[in-house]
Amino acid sequence: MADKYRKQDRRLMDKMEEECGVFGIYASDGKCDVANLTYLGLHALQHRGQESAGICVNNSGELRVYKDMGLVTNIFDEEKLSDLTGEMALGHVRYSTTGSSLLANAQPLLVNSSKGDLSLAHNGNLVNSDEIRHNLEEQGTIFHSTLDTEVIAHLVARSFKDDIIEAITHSLQQIKGAFSIVAMTEDSLIAARDPYGFRPLSLGRKGDNYVVASETCTFDIIGAELIRDIEPGEMVIINEDGIESFYYSEQRPNTFCVFEFIYFARPDSIIGGQNVHLARREMGRQLAREMDVEADSVIPVPSSGIPSALGFSEESGIPYQQGILRNKYVGRTFIQPTQEIRDLKVRLKLNPIKEIIKDKKVILIDDSIVRGTTSKQIIRMVRSIGAKEVHMAISSPPVAYPCYYGMDTSRRKELIAGQKDIEGICQHIGADSLHYLSQEGLLNSINANGYGFCTACFDGEYQIETGIDKFALEK
Ligand code: AMP
Repeated sequence: MADKYRKQDRRLMDKMEEECGVFGIYASDGKCDVANLTYLGLHALQHRGQESAGICVNNSGELRVYKDMGLVTNIFDEEKLSDLTGEMALGHVRYSTTGSSLLANAQPLLVNSSKGDLSLAHNGNLVNSDEIRHNLEEQGTIFHSTLDTEVIAHLVARSFKDDIIEAITHSLQQIKGAFSIVAMTEDSLIAARDPYGFRPLSLGRKGDNYVVASETCTFDIIGAELIRDIEPGEMVIINEDGIESFYYSEQRPNTFCVFEFIYFARPDSIIGGQNVHLARREMGRQLAREMDVEADSVIPVPSSGIPSALGFSEESGIPYQQGILRNKYVGRTFIQPTQEIRDLKVRLKLNPIKEIIKDKKVILIDDSIVRGTTSKQIIRMVRSIGAKEVHMAISSPPVAYPCYYGMDTSRRKELIAGQKDIEGICQHIGADSLHYLSQEGLLNSINANGYGFCTACFDGEYQIETGIDKFALEK
């Protein structure tokens, strides 16, 4: 039993916090600078991961990768990019917090197998990788990283299927959890989404060339057009024969991660035909309909609270004020693991404007409360410059359950809504009142064609058996 929990704990510490961005391009015209376009794509996906980044290129069947720790702009320069020539490329940005900040965990992964070279980049989190890893280790497989991606690579290498595409298909059929994958063989670019469609993945076109990416904002940057989202359970293969697609798995109830719409995706991205900014704006409008508070101004916590504060103001008629300024040169507060550093980073990042807030009743809007650090700090700052009343409004329901599918919503004991009720949270953050958007209101605000949603972080309804007793690690 003790061993079981150690294993679970390692999984929670090491891997559930991987939220990443993937990008791939196949340039059939041979005229594209694929490394530079991948660099631009990764730059647009930087919000999805700041820990490490990498690009793998394919030059007539020869695969080469360059990856390092840090931001895309710090890792790549003109010289490195000009060295990465080819007609296909894939790239990855990785986000992680504690436990696994290692170059060995940077992606894309490049492996040589008897079936040929294979590069893999993965966004999401598998729930059965410990089990598969354990079985493979018992059979003599040696792992170099704690990445789920490496588990997939070994499954491909060991598959009894000789053809690499069949081996990839067979491997994807064995893994469970959230995954949006871009892979590259010696002659093909492959993109696949897990059967539930937890994480986003879109297909686009730039002239005669195909691109795939976690978010459509990358297409805008490189001048590509969106064709469509890759479907849950679908695999797309692009090579000199053109583009082909098939379902490698039975489709499951479509459960796209609703947190992508709330916080994670860039507001200029389109998911399921729905622009993310407009969905967030509607969440703000709905929040205003659900709340009954009088105030002088509506102030967003920048930048994630801006679209919903705009919507809130439009619906309620309460003036929108940019009462808190953000220093954009400071990274996200989640990146550093200790509480002390998180507190300091909030102060470095956000500064309230006294002339707007003093003696006023304000409604502060943010997209979510996770640990409660940000709200508590901001309310303290806003009060210290003389706000008369501070009401906190959140454009999502309380995050009370951990995510096992790749969203950094931590362990349940660190989630304030996993420990306290709304009144307790309100007291903890020091607000005059606290309001959350209802789950129904949230889902009604999103108009993504045919998409169903995973809401496990709000209601604990996990679509895939996680193999983890979600309450076992609370203490
Ligand atoms: P906290 O301070 O722990 O309550 O975190 C809430 C703040 O972090 C909010 O301002 C959110 O915009 C932001 N946030 C929410 N979810 C995440 C996430 N998965 N990763 C990083 N930041 C997040």
